[in-house]
Amino acid sequence: MATLHGTCLCGGVKFEVDADPEMLRFCHCASCKHLSGGGGTVNFPAPPSAIRIVEGAELLQGFTPEGGSTKTFCRECGTNLFGAGWPNSERASVRVSNIEEPLDAKVGAHLFVRSLAPWESLPDDGAERFETVSR
Ligand SMILES: [Zn+2]
Ligand SMILES: [Zn+2]
Repeated sequence: MATLHGTCLCGGVKFEVDADPEMLRFCHCASCKHLSGGGGTVNFPAPPSAIRIVEGAELLQGFTPEGGSTKTFCRECGTNLFGAGWPNSERASVRVSNIEEPLDAKVGAHLFVRSLAPWESLPDDGAERFETVSR
């Protein structure tokens, strides 16, 4: 399995994740819009045991929106690093925007398309679309 390397915007947090993501999920939900400053987040899943914080563990800050799962940020620069309840969940979401290696994986699913903003359009990429989550 590949070891991928990730960092936040300020570089204070560095992490590694053992993963070979085959498919990415683009989440367009309202929370992901807030925390990304854009259309949403693009993620791949990884068990928390596959994620190692190499530097800056003291900068990590979690926030749990009402009715949602915990999102983890860098306290210094605000970069959102992990979602889906890391580190206390079976599978965390790794925000692919923080991974340094170029990945071959493409977006295979658009989640929460019901939360699409008027200023947002879905690409004609053939990816599956889900009103909320894919289950
Ligand atoms: Zn940072
Ligand atoms: Zn989301």
